[in-house]
This record gives sequence, structure tokens and C-alpha cells, in this order.
Amino acid sequence: MTDASAATSAIPGSPGTTDIHDVVVIGSGPAGYTAAIYLARAQLKPVVFEGAVTAGGALMNTTEVENFPGFVDGIMGPELMQNMRAQAERFGTMFVTDDVTDLDISSDIRTITTGSSGTFKARSVVLAMGSGYRELGLPNEKALSGRGVSWCATCDGFFFRGKTIAVVGGGDSAMEEATFLTRFAEKVYVIHRRDHLRASRIMIERAENDPKIEFVWNSAVTELLGEASLQSVQLTDTVNGSTRDLPLDGLFIAIGHDPRSELVRTTVDCDDAGYVLTKHGTLTSVDGVFACGDLVDHTYRQAITAAGSGCAAALDAERWLAAR
Ligand code: NAP
Repeated sequence: MTDASAATSAIPGSPGTTDIHDVVVIGSGPAGYTAAIYLARAQLKPVVFEGAVTAGGALMNTTEVENFPGFVDGIMGPELMQNMRAQAERFGTMFVTDDVTDLDISSDIRTITTGSSGTFKARSVVLAMGSGYRELGLPNEKALSGRGVSWCATCDGFFFRGKTIAVVGGGDSAMEEATFLTRFAEKVYVIHRRDHLRASRIMIERAENDPKIEFVWNSAVTELLGEASLQSVQLTDTVNGSTRDLPLDGLFIAIGHDPRSELVRTTVDCDDAGYVLTKHGTLTSVDGVFACGDLVDHTYRQAITAAGSGCAAALDAERWLAAR
């Protein structure tokens, strides 16, 4: 990764200069890097704010990605992101390895403030901050991530062939993940904190009719047990408070996602869940500000769909700039 100070000192428009960039990209998952590839090839010299510690986005925490088209034998998530970054850099993208702490889009010249790399100016902005999986908030949840605990059935389900696993949650994501995971696992528990689901009828029926799925009602996962990998979970009955251990090879947490829209929550139209609203492709409620990837996506949340919408945002921004 690029050193932040070294990166910014070479960038026109960085602190101490009066240059104004045509376009900046905030976020560095598949959406942000793909937007940068397109913008750079259009010779718009984009600046990507890729985060101080989270550069590369969620795929940096994934193991093998087997469903990104073009990689017959799969590719490791971090390698895929490094390739996308290198591809963007090859065409002239500039990177700021820092967090954006404030974004002023109230005038034609936008101001981007970073944690420790100063302030930048730009005419247009592509928002690609992504979303974060909700966590249970248990002490060793992060330590066991990738060691039996996962947030992505399509990414990791394959590793649980013939195993006993569980999905936490009662929404559509939990039903979808549980149903998908029966392709691999021998047994899939759905652990839900209440006695009824919030998922849609069709998704519930599909799960209920699957002989491999068993529902565990009124149960909260209150401990993750295991050293090198997950061995079992402690369940607490949400009605009578009793506890028991459930031996498991894997636990998939599907309790929702939160878009990372904090920067623009009060300046760009968002829905009740915080997703940035877009129209006519990737246009937000603010002229010259575009949004893409998981930040706008309730439904698909795949690397390839994020990359596709990053491409669309770049084309929209390019047209917007050309019209001026
Ligand atoms: P969701 O609808 O918000 O459901 C989250 C589930 O997790 C709820 O059942 C909730 O329990 C539970 N939960 C939340 N926090 C928890 C915690 N700390 N501990 C234990 N359980 C917790 O989220 P989602 O399922 O990701 O769906 C998000 C949106 O995407 C929805 O609009 C959904 O319809 C859509 N979606 C659609 C599809 C599809 O149609 N193919 C697939 C996936 C998602 P409570 O019920 O008790 O609140």
C-alpha cells in the first residue's frame, strides 16, 4: 500500500496547492477501484481515498473468491483487490491511503477532509464506501472470523462440505444463506432470537421445506467457543434465560448489513436504513455526486455487482463533467 504522506505530496490539489480535481472516489472496494479504472482511462486523473486501514474493502477479509468471472481457478480476495488497485494505478489513478473524515458537497467545488493528509478540492465525487456486515458483538467474534465464523455463505459455504453449521438471523439473508448452505453442509440450524421470522413468505417456505434445516427458536448466541477454530456456541433462551451449548463446525452471521453512509447521511438523500438513494443509474440527490456498490445495494452485495455499478458511476461522472 502507498504511504499516505508520500502519496499526497505528489498529488495536485493536495494541501498547500490550489488545484481542483475533476473527480475523486471515496472508497476502495470493487466499486471504488472499478470506478477509478474507468475514470483514469478517461484521463480524468481520479484521486481515490482508500481508507487508512481498510483499503480494499470487505474482500480483503475473504479467502478464495471463486465466482468472480475471469478467474477459472478462483483468486484470493486480497489478490483480486490488489490487482484492481494496480490496474487503476496503471492508468494514472492517485491514491490517498487515509480516511475521509468530512465531505462538504454544498457548493460546486467540493471539499474532502482527511484524517491526516489534509484537505482536497474536487468538482465531482463518486461515493463507494460500501457496507459492513452487522456483528453479534461477542468477544472472540473477530478472532474466529475465517476460523468457523463467517458472514458470507457464497464465499465460505464450500468449506463446510458434510459439516454441521448454523446461521444466525431471521430475515431474508438468513433464509437465503441457510438454504444455500444445504448444498454443502450435512445439517444447518437457523438460530433466531424470536419465535417467528421477519423473512418473506417464499424464503421461509423454502427453508422450512428443506430437510437439512432445523430452526432453533427464541435463542441468542451468547458465546463463541473454540481456540483455533469454532467448536460450539452457547445459546441463551430468550424466554426463560436458560443456556446450553450447541456443537458446530461453522456459524454464519446473517443479521443484516449497515451501509457506510455516515459521511453523507445529512447531505445526500438516503433511505431509512441509510442506503444512499440513486436515480437514473448512479445519480444521487446532489448534482455531481454519484454513488455505487454496497452503499446503494440492498439486494445483491456481490463483488461483481459492486464492480459493475462502479463502472456505471464512472461513466455517469464522466458524462456529467463532459457536459460542463
Ligand atoms: P433484516 O431483514 O434486517 O433481518 C435481520 C435479522 O437478524 C432479523 O431477523 C433480526 O432479528 C436479526 N438480528 C438483528 N440483529 C441481531 C442480533 N444482534 N442478534 C441476533 N439477531 C439479530 O436483514 P437481512 O435479512 O440482511 O435483509 C436486509 C434487506 O435485504 C431486507 O429488505 C431483505 O428483504 C433484503 N434481502 C432480500 C433477499 C431476497 O429477496 N433474495 C435476500 C436477502 C436480503 P429480529 O427479527 O428479531 O429483529
